[in-house]
Amino acid sequence: MTATKKLYVKTYGCQMNVYDSERMAEALGAQGYEQVDTPEAADMILLNTCHIREKAAEKVYSELGRLKPLRAAKPDLKIGVAGCVAQAEGEEIMRRQPMVDLVVGPQTYHRLPAMMEALERGGKALDTDFPEEDKFAHLPRDRRATRGPTAFLTVQEGCDKFCSFCVVPYTRGAEVSRPVERLLGEARDLVERGVREITLLGQNVNAYHGAGPGGDEWGLARLIRTMADIDGLARIRFTTSHPNDMDDDLIAAHGDCDKLMPYLHLPVQAGSDRILKAMNRKHTAAGYIRLIERIRAARPDLALSGDFIVGFPGETEADFQATLDLVEAVGYSSAFSFKYSPRPGTPAAERAQVDPAEADDRLQRLQALLTRQQRAAQDAMVGRTVNVLFEKAGRMPGQIVGKSEYLHAVHAKGDAGLLGRIAPVRIVESGPNSLGGVLA
Ligand code: SAM
Ligand code: SF4
Repeated sequence: MTATKKLYVKTYGCQMNVYDSERMAEALGAQGYEQVDTPEAADMILLNTCHIREKAAEKVYSELGRLKPLRAAKPDLKIGVAGCVAQAEGEEIMRRQPMVDLVVGPQTYHRLPAMMEALERGGKALDTDFPEEDKFAHLPRDRRATRGPTAFLTVQEGCDKFCSFCVVPYTRGAEVSRPVERLLGEARDLVERGVREITLLGQNVNAYHGAGPGGDEWGLARLIRTMADIDGLARIRFTTSHPNDMDDDLIAAHGDCDKLMPYLHLPVQAGSDRILKAMNRKHTAAGYIRLIERIRAARPDLALSGDFIVGFPGETEADFQATLDLVEAVGYSSAFSFKYSPRPGTPAAERAQVDPAEADDRLQRLQALLTRQQRAAQDAMVGRTVNVLFEKAGRMPGQIVGKSEYLHAVHAKGDAGLLGRIAPVRIVESGPNSLGGVLA
């Protein structure tokens, strides 16, 4: 089919949304839509939304407000809202913004082609079901789509953990793992299209328990080890994990699977056992530290990343100090930290909240410590040689940029012919967010 219509997709939130946007764009590609970089150039605009923190829905409504003049000038323009805000708000979106033509929740993207047909006939479409089938298996692939050297691959969705602050179990639904053979097929297809590094995704990725080819259940480590046999695939990563799902095989894989990169994102959220209990995390601070010791015994050079929430309901200064102590004890090479944001419908939203000024102050103190650790970890790379997968041209002429095994952004002077290839780079400088090096 010739591409006559133009699609603009704006993605908010996590990497799983990036993967979903890619798959939706490919599915619409099969229907004759070609992606463009600006909303002005589009015949269809799709906002793939995130509901994880504060004012997510309001942000989407203000974005829709900004699109109003565009729609007024181009009455045939179609506007769709996908993702977790679509799931949470449903019909309300069309009620508040009648110009919206399509609302689709994260579990029904495979119905998008049929929904688009309804739009072509001049109708509207809304679907926020939680159907049983694997949406990705039913989403058409556009095999002509070109690929960079890195790709995401969603292997697991949803979550059954119900941390008391988190909206994911409500917007993404129960935990579901995709079958092994489908994932291996998708991985082979990505590699044939030039991908060298695959990041396996899931809201709780290490809870993966997909059906194997013989009908038995596979864990994430077995999936990774088998995927590592694919010729041409050089690197595997996975994110995001829960400490309680780091089983022995996955810990061992960090030591004995060469293609599994020495980087792990393992959120702990807080350092106080009282707060961890109130968060329904079902692990303690000491348990987390012991786990990190075991993973580091398997892979001593592991770069560790994490997520933290400050100002959770009931958090005292002493509880917060326990978070700082844990960060000092563990040592992170990067981390994400957030001020607690009450999510409607989650248990913690009903509890007495911490004074916002106090929470801001704690966030700043935590971020100062995490930034110091991140800088120290980066500075320690100077003088070392790392392998970099080059992904794109840099901002400076003649510069190319990519990622080290440890997920550091690295730039170097080099030929564009190196894009998509892995080359050794000697690190000579450490900047705030990236490392500079020379090809070794
Ligand atoms: N499954 C992962 C885990 O168990 O850690 C996290 C997935 S969640 C999409 C990403 C991060 O967002 C969480 O680790 C948490 O730090 C943060 N987050 C989730 N809900 C939040 C809330 N209500 N307020 C602030 N941060 C939140
Ligand atoms: Fe949310 Fe992660 Fe907790 Fe699941 S394990 S409820 S995704 S924070």
